[in-house]
Amino acid sequence: MSKGFFQVPVAVNEPVKSYAPGSPEREEVLKQYRKYYKSKTEVPLYIGEHEVSVGDTKPISPPHDHKHIIGHYYLAEAEQIDAAIETALQARPAWAALTWEQRAAIFLKAAELLAGPYRAKINAATMIGQSKTVHQAEIDSACELIDFLRFNVEFMSQIYSEQPDSSEGIWNRVEYRSLEGFVYAITPFNFTAIAGNLPSSAAMMGNVVLWKPSSTQMFSAKVIMDVFKEAGVPPGVINMVAGNSAMISEKALTHPDFAGIHFTGSTEVFNSLWKQIGDNIGTYKTYPRIVGETGGKDFIIAHPTANARQVATAITRGAFEFQGQKCSAASRIYLPESKAEKTLEYLKADLASIKPPGTPEDMSNFVSSVIDQKSFDKLAGYIDRAKKDKKAEVIAGGGYNKSKGYFIEPTVILTTDPNYVTMETELFGPVVTVYVYKDKDWSEALKLVDTTSEYALTGAVFSGDRYAIDEATKVLENCAGNFYINDKPTGAVVGQQPFGGARGSGTNDKAGSAQNLMRWVSPRLIKETFVSPEDYRYPFLG
Ligand code: NAD
Repeated sequence: MSKGFFQVPVAVNEPVKSYAPGSPEREEVLKQYRKYYKSKTEVPLYIGEHEVSVGDTKPISPPHDHKHIIGHYYLAEAEQIDAAIETALQARPAWAALTWEQRAAIFLKAAELLAGPYRAKINAATMIGQSKTVHQAEIDSACELIDFLRFNVEFMSQIYSEQPDSSEGIWNRVEYRSLEGFVYAITPFNFTAIAGNLPSSAAMMGNVVLWKPSSTQMFSAKVIMDVFKEAGVPPGVINMVAGNSAMISEKALTHPDFAGIHFTGSTEVFNSLWKQIGDNIGTYKTYPRIVGETGGKDFIIAHPTANARQVATAITRGAFEFQGQKCSAASRIYLPESKAEKTLEYLKADLASIKPPGTPEDMSNFVSSVIDQKSFDKLAGYIDRAKKDKKAEVIAGGGYNKSKGYFIEPTVILTTDPNYVTMETELFGPVVTVYVYKDKDWSEALKLVDTTSEYALTGAVFSGDRYAIDEATKVLENCAGNFYINDKPTGAVVGQQPFGGARGSGTNDKAGSAQNLMRWVSPRLIKETFVSPEDYRYPFLG
């Protein structure tokens, strides 16, 4: 029981450091990068108080230098998953009963550790393991993760302070219990911040967690666990495992104490997990929470009044930063005939000024490698197809090479078919497809944007005409969970632009918001009557 109504520190967004030549942060991150590069890091399983490093392993290599090995991660056997779940459940009573300000303090401390002593480590690990430039690593693994932790603490305190009215002689109160069981967090490769947020947001609300990071994010996942441990997350509260995804999910999703899934990744995987949960629904002690943020086919549509220079900049940044591997990355572009030539000219000039993809250690690189061979082969296949198809033309980039790293040039495909395969399919790489519409068909083009894809994650409209902006906002109401006006569709900031989409893009529970945290509690209403009645007869009975 707390002995005060505590106010948490007001959350503010972590300032983004510049890493300009000569800055101390640049020197520090490069030093850490080189240290990691030369050494071998072992990533154990984290089960309760044990860091398990026995059994089979898999190597970890930087995607931009895939023959170089920087460490190994351990693979869990089925019985270790059982042990991780049992350990979590044993940790649950004490963790769920801990006063909320103690939980808040742990995660605020984690934020401070990331902002200070762990900043270079988490950024260098993300640069090496996921091939992010230093700027992309900074805005993700340092700033966004710090923001998630700080803002979630603030949202948690807001949730707890939300209480019902009471009437005369009665006191109504709500307590926000953690879920009765464990939460299964599954995270994608592309954001270190999401990897840290999915397990910690549920844990912050008093839950215990089984966390399975992506096999291609294990290097920075270890830094996250190191931070959680140093911040004081007790053993068993967040258990990190790796290995065969199907086996781990089979164990987690057939367990009677499975209480919720916190997923970010592809729509296909989420659909299969949801189905599995449905098949096992009779097994669970409680209805599980199902939260999933999934794929996208994010758009930019320019009106004839749009500024071509601004549209081109939004495409260059929105489609190609982090090699187009953001769920929010622009990947289908609709340009009006009257502005297309100018916009594409600017875009091609931008791309011509970008160095060929290379290592993030060389800070003059704007783009690096895609995440793995599977992704590389898939993207190269779509590029080859576009080179051959009559309906498509590769107007910029189109080169690729995987001899050292999985490098794909930023590529622009121009199509005459608004339903061309790369206008509809999530490619998740540095490939953007452009369709040019006739200026007079603006309203039809909006309908096309709305109906072309199964997804509804992010999208942007560029226009200087307020009526056109209003029309786009209305027609595209259900087409994006995050809708941008005269801005690129990427770069959502915690506490400012809560993130998530609907349709095939997920359950839209908005990561980094109170709404998301509400999914990890089960409120209990307590009504207390001070003087209880002693006669059952109501006055109307006479
Ligand atoms: P992915 O679906 O391949 O993998 C996501 C996670 O699911 C990984 O940890 C993976 O190992 C795991 N997984 C795969 N099969 C599984 C199974 N049967 N059981 C349990 N886990 C399983 O996605 P990815 O390639 O890591 O990430 C890219 C995808 O994530 C894209 O589709 C992107 O749009 C999406 N994404 C969405 C958001 C969002 O907020 N909407 C954010 C980031 C990424």
